[in-house]
Amino acid sequence: MLGSGAIIVVDDTNKVVDVALKLAKFYKHESCGKCSPCREGTNWTVKMLQRIDEGVATPMDLDILSSVQDQIMGNCLCVLGDAMAMPLSSMVKKFRGEFEEHIELARTRNPYPDEVAA
Ligand code: SF4
Repeated sequence: MLGSGAIIVVDDTNKVVDVALKLAKFYKHESCGKCSPCREGTNWTVKMLQRIDEGVATPMDLDILSSVQDQIMGNCLCVLGDAMAMPLSSMVKKFRGEFEEHIELARTRNPYPDEVAA
């Protein structure tokens, strides 16, 4: 027995930030809240991705986003936390340029980039 896994196929018309946000929202919703790395980590991840999408993030937020995923992986009671953190971490690593481009574009659209999203 090798375990289990999943493959998500996404074409290049989808923005990686949108895919990451959908994934994070799903796991935040599914988290039972029993352990804090998953409960808080999925919540923080959604909030950080929303900041990126709304033009109130900087490229430094990507390092924080990766760091949060590192804190989740291996520290949860079940695999749900890891199931979000592993692909999220991989997305930031493999598509960092696309995340940075999204941040730049979103910041130019947001006239008040220093205001934190509610
Ligand atoms: S990792 Fe599992 S047990 Fe822990 S909060 Fe998430 S869903 Fe619950």
